[in-house]
Amino acid sequence: MALVNDHFLKLPNNYLFADIAKKVNAFKAMHPKVDVISLGIGDVTQPLAPAVIEAIHKAADEMATQQGFRGYGPEQGYDFLRDAILKNDFLPRGIHLDRDEVFINDGAKSDTGNIQELVRWDNSIGVTDPIYPVYIDSNVMIGRAGWKGDDGRWSNVMYMPCNAENGFVPKIPDRRVDVIYLCYPNNPTGTVISKDELRKWVNYALKNDTLIFYDAAYQAYIQDDKIPHSIYEIRGARKCAIEFHSYSKTAGFTGVRCGYTIVPKDVTAATLTGERIPLNPLWNRRQCTKFNGTSYISQRAAEAIYTPEGKVQIKETIDYYMQNAKKMLTTLRSLGFECYGGENAPYIWAKTPETSGSWQFFEEMLYGAHVVCTPGVGFGPAGEGYVRFTAFGSHEKTDEALDRIRQWLK
Ligand SMILES: *Cc1c(COP(=O)(O)O)cnc(C)c1O
Repeated sequence: MALVNDHFLKLPNNYLFADIAKKVNAFKAMHPKVDVISLGIGDVTQPLAPAVIEAIHKAADEMATQQGFRGYGPEQGYDFLRDAILKNDFLPRGIHLDRDEVFINDGAKSDTGNIQELVRWDNSIGVTDPIYPVYIDSNVMIGRAGWKGDDGRWSNVMYMPCNAENGFVPKIPDRRVDVIYLCYPNNPTGTVISKDELRKWVNYALKNDTLIFYDAAYQAYIQDDKIPHSIYEIRGARKCAIEFHSYSKTAGFTGVRCGYTIVPKDVTAATLTGERIPLNPLWNRRQCTKFNGTSYISQRAAEAIYTPEGKVQIKETIDYYMQNAKKMLTTLRSLGFECYGGENAPYIWAKTPETSGSWQFFEEMLYGAHVVCTPGVGFGPAGEGYVRFTAFGSHEKTDEALDRIRQWLK
């Protein structure tokens, strides 16, 4: 008899976006003629950059020839892409990494979910609340998170609430935690962390021997030059932090699949007897065993965003989304909403009126304005009383959605 991994049974059945889809479908079934606009799901909508398309075509043509055919590539990724990453994403910020500290992935979700395999099951973890659900759920699946209480919190997870009072950057914990997940610019709140604040986290980690998993999936949306794009802009971070990047939001790769993970050689974790073990060779070992590399075509596509044309083109698309964000911020604020984020990230985190919680407001807006947002509480207990709006729509749909919200509230 095969015994199931019963940690899976502790997870709530439904994924947040499945719950939303169910409610939206129920509405559509009752109102078949109404078209609903979604400012909910965090997927991009604009087509790939021409430079990327060209690279994809070229790579596909290479594969059609005897000399150009590629089978399995290196598990860690092709050197052409790892070098382009070092040269474009890190060197200009004064960060010197080695090629073998870069691991190409098939998107950051897999690696942010898998990275916890490198530490023992009984480590304590800390997360910001609200949070991208992958961090906690991947820990639940191997039993590290403990049990879910009635308050929606897992027993072995330290929650660090992010709210308007602390500017959505949580207080440094007053006790030690083994592993901390940080994501800035943040999904879902769209808020950012300053260098000074991030330095406090790195110093905390160095002092307490804490490992930081830093998700930088939205770094390309940063508009303010003073905001850090990488945790390695902070001195000492290469001793305590692993960082995740993704081309999904940077260049519309949600369907192409490519990103990368930085595991510096100086990052270590301890054995029970206190010996320090570097995590870079462990991650390499893990990847070689469980991952056969990102497709050659996707990696060539990613390389193309670092060409001069590619850089201009992906920036245009990011600017396009950020124009939405700006309009959404202005309109929602003029309608009396307290809003956060949206300046260096494609998300706006809006406080719901006193009288409605996250899910109630979601339904009110769906039925009243035919616009979908994401209930904040779906991202964690501290998200109650907020909803997330995404700037990933087309200009036309976004404008129309804002008009509808305006009409609805009149
Ligand atoms: C979208 C997103 C990612 C990237 O996911 P991919 O697997 O690269 O598509 C990673 N982290 C966060 C917080 C995200 O919102």
